[in-house]
Amino acid sequence: MQADRLLVVGRFQPPHLGHLSLIKYSLGVSRETVVVVGSAQESHTLENPMTAGERVEALNIMLSETLGDDFCKRVKIVPVMDIAMNKVWVQYLTMLLPKFDGVVSGNELVLMLFEDMGFKAIKPPMYNRDVCSGTEIRRAILEGSNWASCIHPSVKKYLESIGFVERVKRLGGASDG
Ligand code: NAP
Repeated sequence: MQADRLLVVGRFQPPHLGHLSLIKYSLGVSRETVVVVGSAQESHTLENPMTAGERVEALNIMLSETLGDDFCKRVKIVPVMDIAMNKVWVQYLTMLLPKFDGVVSGNELVLMLFEDMGFKAIKPPMYNRDVCSGTEIRRAILEGSNWASCIHPSVKKYLESIGFVERVKRLGGASDG
C-alpha cells in the first residue's frame, strides 16, 4: 500500500526506538510522514514529563541522525494540543495539518477514530515492546534501573542535558540517591 501522506501520532514521553520503527514503517508506505506530537499542552507530570518543545527537539535529533536526507525531505514534526471531544478529534487534525490519507499507530483509540472517519488506519508490528515503551522507560527511572536501552544515544545525551531523569524522579517523589 502506498499513501501520499500519513500521520504518526504519539506523546513521545520520551521518543524511543519503538517510535523510530513506527516512523520508518510509515515512510516505507507513504511519500511523506507527519509526526504529530500529541498532548502538546502537557508537561511536568509523571505521565508527560517533557514539554512539547523538548519532544520536538528530541525527535529532531533522533530522526536527523537516523533518516539522513529523508528527514528533511519526507518528515514534518507538528505539536498538537488535545481537545475534549474524541469524536471530532480527527476533523480537528484535518484543520491543523496538511491533507493526509491516514495514520500509522499502535494505539487502538487512535486507530478507531481514524477508521470511523473513513481514513486509513495502519497497525504495524511492535518493536521490542517489553522495553520500548514510554511507561517502561519512566518506570525504570523511578526504580533506578537501566532506562536507556531503547533510547537513541544522542537522545539520551539530550535528555541528560535537560535533566530528564531528575525531573521524572522529582515528579515521582523518588529521591536522587
Ligand atoms: P505514545 O505512547 O508516544 O505512542 C505513540 C505510538 O507509538 C503509539 O501508536 C504506540 O503504540 C507506538 N509505540 C510505542 N511503543 C512502540 C514500540 N515499541 N514499537 C512500535 N510502536 C510503538 O503515544 P500515544 O499515547 O499513543 O499518543 C496518542 C496521542 O494522541 C496522545 O497525545 C493523545 O492525547 C492523542 N489523542 C488525542 C485525542 C483528543 O485530543 N481528543 C484523541 C485521541 C488521541 P501503543 O499505543 O501500543 O503504545
